[in-house]
Amino acid sequence: MAGPIAVLFDIDETLVHTGDSGRRSWAWAFDQLHGVAADIGKHTSAGETDPQVGRKTFHAVLGREPSHDEMARLYAAYLWHLSEDIWDSKGYRVLDGVEETLRRIADAGVILGLISGAMEGAARIKMEPGKLGRYFVFGAYGSDSPDRAEITRMAMAKAGRLHGRDLTRDEVYVVGDTPRDIEAAHAAHATGVGVASGHYTVEELSAARADHVLTALTEPFPQI
Ligand SMILES: [Mg+2]
Repeated sequence: MAGPIAVLFDIDETLVHTGDSGRRSWAWAFDQLHGVAADIGKHTSAGETDPQVGRKTFHAVLGREPSHDEMARLYAAYLWHLSEDIWDSKGYRVLDGVEETLRRIADAGVILGLISGAMEGAARIKMEPGKLGRYFVFGAYGSDSPDRAEITRMAMAKAGRLHGRDLTRDEVYVVGDTPRDIEAAHAAHATGVGVASGHYTVEELSAARADHVLTALTEPFPQI
């Protein structure tokens, strides 16, 4: 069987563990702008996109819908804090096997892209300390859509543009740590690869019908 032409990676708990930089930065943004304590962990769960995280948390702590300019200010404050916090975060680390896997995939002539629920700016910041940005040719982000399936479709379309034609399910692998990543992969007609490096187990990712499941990226990557 032929291997993939493009492999698209989720960021949080798939490539890096930020040591709660995101959670601290949302809390800082809500405190700065609205003077309220906000813990995204109480109102959202892993695999949700930044627009979902921001809106749900806003609604939970302020009891109303945010306006467009309130969301814009929140995003700006969040990014500002994240860009500093990520360098001080003691828990920040690139996950085991990531560098080797990315290099092996790139060496095989397969194009690498990102699919992240993070805003594009946040996605870049999260990869800076680990210098992972250099591996990824393109991506689609939470700033493109609040819906992870739609983000995945956009990333697939971009991979197709780079390759010069639409790509099939067998040609695009989507790698993530949550059932949401796998569901989005299938909604976009891509192959879903689950990695149990985050909050979900091999069994939970298998139950989400992942096409391949790895305990960590230290395991051989399928079809490469
Ligand atoms: Mg993730």
